[in-house]
Amino acid sequence: MRTLKVPEATITRLSVYSRYLSKLKKQGKITISSTDIAVGAGVNPAQVRKDLSFFGEFGTRGVGYDVDQLNWDILKILSLDEEWTVALVGFGHLGQAVTMHRVFKERGFNFTSIFDNDPNKIGTMVEGVEILPSERIEEVISKNKNRIGIITVPADAAQGAADALVKGGVQAILNFAPIHLTVPQEIELREVDLAVNLEVLTFHLDIQRQGYSRPLSFIR
Ligand code: NAD
Repeated sequence: MRTLKVPEATITRLSVYSRYLSKLKKQGKITISSTDIAVGAGVNPAQVRKDLSFFGEFGTRGVGYDVDQLNWDILKILSLDEEWTVALVGFGHLGQAVTMHRVFKERGFNFTSIFDNDPNKIGTMVEGVEILPSERIEEVISKNKNRIGIITVPADAAQGAADALVKGGVQAILNFAPIHLTVPQEIELREVDLAVNLEVLTFHLDIQRQGYSRPLSFIR
């Protein structure tokens, strides 16, 4: 298998560039320079050019980039030129916010399987999708061919949810529960914790309060 050496931060920034380009497209903008993209994404223009250079040549010297074309090219790089069917386990506060938010639909993520073990939720419909008990995860995921699973259950239920998702055939898991999950090596696992980001903020605020400038390694 070939290895594509692209920094993770580049992929994250491509997603940011693409969302910015989508917004500009809606506003009717036709062309854009790397400087404009950089301003919109909060990075420097050389970074924009370097990130794009991993994937080929884009834009025309002296003219800039065609907004629609570049956005389409980035969507293809991110595999967002196809629709992804997603499964969600845990239709509580966070699960509802995730499934209902229009941004996921706009970016091509379609929730086709939703699970919860609350008897009051099982059998109810969410935008045409029936909430099913977690005992059915494996069977339904496999039938619906969900390749991505999102976990929004309490921490003590998260590993069980992950195991069922993997048995059902998902290839990637986004875990919001505050627990590190064990999954087979071939499964792409991302764990999101807003508390970690908040705690990085409080660290920065504290060292500034103590009269230190920000350590070099933290300066973007
Ligand atoms: P919640 O209690 O509102 O929702 C949890 C849902 O999971 C409920 O509907 C419950 O019935 C369901 N559930 C419980 N066990 C289950 C199982 N075995 N199978 C299927 N469904 C099950 O909680 P919430 O506020 O939505 O938080 C959900 C998770 O996300 C928690 O683990 C929480 O700590 C975490 N969280 C993470 C972040 C973050 O930044 N990553 C932010 C907020 C919450």
